Amino acid sequence: MLKDQDRIFTNLYGMHDRTLAGAKARGHWDGTAGLIQKGRDWIVQQMKDSGLRGRGGAGFPTGLKWSFMPKESDGRPSYLVVNADESEPGTCKDREIMRHDPHTLIEGCLIASFAMNANACYIYIRGEYIREKEALQAAIDEAYDAGLLGPNAAGSGWDFDLYLHHGAGAYICGEETALLESLEGKKGMPRMKPPFPAGAGLYGCPTTVNNVESIAVVPTILRRGPEWFSSFGRPNNAGTKLFAISGHVNNPCVVEEAMSISFEELIERHCGGIRGGWDNLKAVIPGGSSVPLLPGKIMQEDCIMDFDWLREQRSGLGTAAVIVMDNSTDVIKAIWRLSKFYKHESCGQCTPCREGTGWMMRVMDRLVTGDAEPEEIDMLLDVTKQVEGHTICALGDAAAWPIQGLIRHFRNEIEDRIKHKRTGRVSAVAAE
Ligand code: NAD
Ligand code: SF4
Repeated sequence: MLKDQDRIFTNLYGMHDRTLAGAKARGHWDGTAGLIQKGRDWIVQQMKDSGLRGRGGAGFPTGLKWSFMPKESDGRPSYLVVNADESEPGTCKDREIMRHDPHTLIEGCLIASFAMNANACYIYIRGEYIREKEALQAAIDEAYDAGLLGPNAAGSGWDFDLYLHHGAGAYICGEETALLESLEGKKGMPRMKPPFPAGAGLYGCPTTVNNVESIAVVPTILRRGPEWFSSFGRPNNAGTKLFAISGHVNNPCVVEEAMSISFEELIERHCGGIRGGWDNLKAVIPGGSSVPLLPGKIMQEDCIMDFDWLREQRSGLGTAAVIVMDNSTDVIKAIWRLSKFYKHESCGQCTPCREGTGWMMRVMDRLVTGDAEPEEIDMLLDVTKQVEGHTICALGDAAAWPIQGLIRHFRNEIEDRIKHKRTGRVSAVAAE
């Protein structure tokens, strides 16, 4: 288990003072100018050595991403954009940082922007996060008043401005290029990649888009050293990580833990176990709604909560939003609800996603009640394959994968429901 002295987010639960004075008392903004004066190459190399992989869900190596930014300006400004449009169902970890520990993020924005030659950074915050926006804006104002932002920010010699932009509630604006479009004042629709944002991002300029948690851990990594950070977790899965655990556990929570912790330890230590005991565990979505669910048996026996182990199980760590379902759960209905969500949130610009999400949801409608032909299960699987990998952004994959996981692991349950419907016996859960 992660020891208290190894926690980066020391005010995750809002037990302490979140103002600048409180943040400084907990070690934030300590020697920031000195870190910046070590230079861009040093900072980027430290991030590479730390092994930090993006905390927004995709797990792309952060230091590597930063190294794609041009070292010298070609006349265009460079930007850092922080993705605080946290909207993945089950995910509420960045919210806690912005609510209770905003200065970790602001200090990270300054250092990361300097490392990428950016004099300006935009934080794009989810429309529904009203209190978080207020807390973050108050912290930004405090930092400006204290000379930590603005000209010669924190005495570093670097001029730096930080802007908070409030979204309007569209899930798709969390996709990095849709976010950039939205920030530019346009409709939030994803762009084709490549070009990646480092080549042509905000206003066509070199841009890096990073998740809140990825940026908020930067100052502590630089202060404590990349070896300290990479001492947690298995190789290629380094660091500490915020897990947001919801559903049928006794105490749902957001907690910082060492990467590669076992699922069992995570739940026992921080959530007081599964509701009704471990025998009552049915299924888990381990990383937010965009990754396939796994049966409780796999999760309980030997599950390691990291990118690589979960990928080997054909699921993923994603946003580390762990959604636990016990035996009372109608898993078909749970995945149907996600299908409805993705259909609603599709921006509609590419055909496989626009049409496919509707198709998938309509077949799922029938599977929930059992009012379907058995052949429709394979037909649905085929539709998911036609959507997966054939769309502009990852929303198409995200809509397909939960259904694939359902069919892979709970096919019997779907078949039983169809059979029971035909014989006039509606299963207990479906009838609820
Ligand atoms: P992605 O793999 O396409 O990209 C991840 C990052 O790496 C991006 O910043 C991208 O620009 C960069 N990148 C990837 N390949 C690159 C290359 N060859 N050259 C330069 N840069 C490269 O994934 P994505 O679409 O950004 O994110 C998908 C993930 O987002 C999902 O797995 C899901 O878990 C997560 N997600 C999170 C939320 C949330 O609320 N946090 C919401 C929806 C989805
Ligand atoms: Fe829009 Fe869906 Fe295409 Fe993404 S995959 S661009 S959300 S239609």
